[in-house]
Amino acid sequence: MQRYFIPSDQWKDDTVTIIDDDYHHIVNVMRMKEGQSVICSSNGLSYLCEIKQIDDRSVICELIEKLTEQQELPISVTLAQGLPKGDKLDLIVQKSTELGMEHFVPLQMDRTIVKWDHKKEQKKLDRLRKIAKEASEQSHRSIVPVIHAKQSLKELIQSKTYNHLWVASELEAKDDTNHSSSFKAAIQQVNEGDHILIIVGPEGGFSEKEISYLKRQGCQSIRLGPRILRTETAPLYALSAISFYFEEWRCEV
Ligand code: SAM
Repeated sequence: MQRYFIPSDQWKDDTVTIIDDDYHHIVNVMRMKEGQSVICSSNGLSYLCEIKQIDDRSVICELIEKLTEQQELPISVTLAQGLPKGDKLDLIVQKSTELGMEHFVPLQMDRTIVKWDHKKEQKKLDRLRKIAKEASEQSHRSIVPVIHAKQSLKELIQSKTYNHLWVASELEAKDDTNHSSSFKAAIQQVNEGDHILIIVGPEGGFSEKEISYLKRQGCQSIRLGPRILRTETAPLYALSAISFYFEEWRCEV
């Protein structure tokens, strides 16, 4: 069943008004008719809805039933990603959304090659927000991850407090004797309801200055297996492992 994330100002009492791109998708792509059902979500709540009225600019739906689904990770994950080259961010945001990421922060780091001016940044962020919304709808999540404006490492660390500050360090990949940086040691310290920040470097990795700054800020280096992963693979490894740990391995069978 089609799912749409509808801004809260389009909800009133027991009706939801759907307009713009979502209206186009329902009417022109899915060619839906009055009487058919869709799922509408907003701020973590999802409802089964019935299409009551379709006119030339809006679809009016009636709320039928609140859905008690549990599609979200029991912890909050913020992924801070060193800006990669090309369109890798599209893939990272799409896949990380499917895997349960809640916040995404593009990071300007010492070794990032790309430079975003204000105009380019706005265009990129709009595109990433559209990708996150569509990936949330496709994966039946009840929220859409927040795509933040570009930040520096300093802004990121100072912007919010986290229960766990993880730096995905490829340097640890080459050293499996340091058990404190094992992913297992790190994830076993996490409790449901915690907020984790995962920082991933760009293709060139972290500079020495960045690593020592992050260490001084109390960040924990973590290993994502013994191989050197591409910058776009590393976040997916981490989120998949978190989902496995909290949603599959630990769940009551
Ligand atoms: N320039 C680095 C080198 O040659 O060793 C590789 C950087 S890697 C392509 C990009 C980012 O992915 C790294 O900065 C790190 O955040 C993450 N990463 C890749 N493999 C990892 C691993 N095995 N453990 C932890 N992080 C990893």
